[in-house]
Amino acid sequence: MKIAVIGAGPAGLAAAFDFARAGHDVSCYEASGQVGGLAGGFKAEGWDWSLEKYYHHWFQSDQAIHQIANDLGIQDKLLFPQPVTALFHEGRFYAFDSPISVLKFPGIPLLDRLRFGFVGLYLRLTSNWKKLEGYKAHDWLTRYLGKRAYQILWEPMLEGKFGEKYYKQVNMAWFWARIHARTRCLGTYTGGFQAFMEALAEGVRNQGGKIHLSEPVLNLEEVEGGKIQLKTPRGEETFDRVLTTSSPQVLQKTAPTLPAQYLEKIQELKSLGAVVLVLALKRPLGPGIYWYNLPKKAGFPFLCLVEHTCFISPEHYGGDHLVYCGDYVPEDHPYMKMTEEEVVEAFSPSLARINPDFSREWIKGAWLFRTPYAQPIPFQNHSNNIPQFQTPWKNLYWASMSHVYPWDRGTNFAVEMGRNVAREILA
Ligand SMILES: Cc1cc2nc3c(=O)[nH]c(=O)nc-3n(C[C@H](O)[C@H](O)[C@H](O)COP(=O)(O)OP(=O)(O)OC[C@H]3O[C@@H](n4cnc5c(N)ncnc54)[C@H](O)[C@@H]3O)c2cc1C
Repeated sequence: MKIAVIGAGPAGLAAAFDFARAGHDVSCYEASGQVGGLAGGFKAEGWDWSLEKYYHHWFQSDQAIHQIANDLGIQDKLLFPQPVTALFHEGRFYAFDSPISVLKFPGIPLLDRLRFGFVGLYLRLTSNWKKLEGYKAHDWLTRYLGKRAYQILWEPMLEGKFGEKYYKQVNMAWFWARIHARTRCLGTYTGGFQAFMEALAEGVRNQGGKIHLSEPVLNLEEVEGGKIQLKTPRGEETFDRVLTTSSPQVLQKTAPTLPAQYLEKIQELKSLGAVVLVLALKRPLGPGIYWYNLPKKAGFPFLCLVEHTCFISPEHYGGDHLVYCGDYVPEDHPYMKMTEEEVVEAFSPSLARINPDFSREWIKGAWLFRTPYAQPIPFQNHSNNIPQFQTPWKNLYWASMSHVYPWDRGTNFAVEMGRNVAREILA
């Protein structure tokens, strides 16, 4: 078959790899100038490794990553260090990533800590996410952890991630997925995620697949015999099957003649965008903590602070100390329009709350990344809203972050989904 894949992110490349391995004629079209999608990276002068534009790590339990790395023969380049995650409470940061650190956390009484431990254990052991999706995480956690423990331990993360408007509506299966399968050891790839994505692209090419960079798909149309015609700035071409991995909004723009009822339904899939400021500092910021969850109620202007070089050694980045300041916001949020300078101005004073010695002179470089489609929002009983891969045009398939459920979107699940949709198409 002649197959087109739209998007060279993890989902598109994983699917293209399997199509090419099965002997099909595959062309992958990517709007940007590099592969990787949201997991892509960049390299500043003097760096040996690329840095993810948006902070990224894997979990040791990410089976689809292990599997595809194995298929590509690159498994020895996966790395799983164990960095420290911390929680902010009343002006101080506390390690918060192991049963011992939870037991030691002084912010809630011992009874609440034990309760927290039992609830965590239950969520790790149960596989019944279907039942949990009927509850809102806010209500379920308030009930089982108790109000005080929930307000201190999880509410700030939920509120930061989904905003005031949505956080009380997110279902409990989403929260379950975060606890159920995650590990303390976090993963990366030798050279950075961009190197991993390039190895995957190389795998596609080695099997005879083509990858067209800087070639956005502008229009899709169902033509005679149910084939799909694809238009890019370089012309038109017809394919037996097309798989697109774009957002619901981009699907609507590229295939506007799909049935109106279908397009209306997929626009109901809500999501948030992300804004991430990357700073290269002359000195380390904190005391060795990789990930900080920051409560907005305590006046932090963003949700998470990630000191990447407490996870991966600064020696790979020419000695720079790399910090991400990230937030999830709707498309019309002021952060989506502010200049880089304005975002630095808004975010950087908070760094002094991590290290009082911090000053603007420490900043050697700044990069701002924004995307309107970063985090789908799962409401109650969300499994009823997950679209099929096959669209109303029988040879057009769609697989996006909005299809990943009950797991939280991530490169592992994008790879798994890409391979599942490829299997469905080939079957
Ligand atoms: C802030 C942030 C933090 C994250 N942290 C992690 C993490 O720690 N670990 C993890 O595993 N995952 C993380 N993720 C999620 C991860 O990046 C995504 O789950 C994954 O990239 C999704 O892969 P995808 O292929 O489905 O989509 P994408 O990566 O979005 O790829 C889609 C591709 O399609 C292209 N495209 C779209 N429209 C067109 C068109 N019309 N023509 C041609 N090309 C087009 C885009 O340019 C893009 O390259 C994070 C994401 C964000 C935003």
